[in-house]
Amino acid sequence: MSKAQYEGYTDQAATKLVREKFGDTNVYAQNAKSILTKASGFIAAYDFTINPYRGCQYGCSYCYAAAFSPNNKMRHDWGKWVIFKENSADILEKELENWYRKNPHLSPKIYMSSVTDPYQPLESKLQLTRRLLEVMLPYRPVLVIQTRSPIITRDIDYLQRFQHLRINMSIPSGSEVVRKDFEPRSPSIKARFNAIYKIKHSIDSLKGFVPKLSVTITPLLPTLPTDESDFIQKLAIADRVVIQDFHPSDQRSLVASTRQEAKEIKNKYAWWYDSKHFGYLQFKEKLVSQLPGIEIKEGKAGFTYE
Ligand code: SF4
Repeated sequence: MSKAQYEGYTDQAATKLVREKFGDTNVYAQNAKSILTKASGFIAAYDFTINPYRGCQYGCSYCYAAAFSPNNKMRHDWGKWVIFKENSADILEKELENWYRKNPHLSPKIYMSSVTDPYQPLESKLQLTRRLLEVMLPYRPVLVIQTRSPIITRDIDYLQRFQHLRINMSIPSGSEVVRKDFEPRSPSIKARFNAIYKIKHSIDSLKGFVPKLSVTITPLLPTLPTDESDFIQKLAIADRVVIQDFHPSDQRSLVASTRQEAKEIKNKYAWWYDSKHFGYLQFKEKLVSQLPGIEIKEGKAGFTYE
């Protein structure tokens, strides 16, 4: 089958046309052949990943998923296009039925999402992720949702019905100025903490299941000295905090995919990464000493459901 050509990103005749503009995002519709993808890499402990979208409007400078763009032009324009998988709810239903035929007593472990944010702004309109939750509910999966978006609070009515749910809220820095440098299109840090607060305090444990809550600081971005103590105190809202160094400099393929843009922003903060008072190890020690009772995990170990 010939490769899809996306309008605005090809010199050939486009096979995928811009369905609409959402802000400055080109939105394309596509039917997926499958929606449950076998999990691997840092989330190999799961059976599947689900990505309702390809591409991500947040367009974070350090995002490794940009490497999986359909072509170089789209990789360069990461954040300004999204392909939504129009049939994903129907396909998911079939794939979950198939799973239970083969594993009648085993709940699938699902990680949503590995290469997109399931609650990016477009989700407020399309409600694709919401439909997937609806389909998943009767199948009782073990589910982890990874997001940096307060839009997730829209779905509290469904979230509280999952018996085995962990929500990973991504907050890689406690400083707005740093966030705006590395991920200028993403929600504010305050909005993300407010979302966790809302989820935690609006689910009544007598009527629903309170999800496990993690804050993922991955990759670790600098937090300015003036914001550090406040940030660490706010992290106490979670039951787990996960840290991971900024794309460690070995030769793994995802590291090779770190975009120049992110490397340059990181250089601006070399003073923080190289300082004997800040940087990865020092930040980790501060978390351990100032957050007793909260699980502090590193890298892959932090992405498990348990
Ligand atoms: S929100 Fe996640 S998937 Fe989206 S650009 Fe940022 S890091 Fe990548």
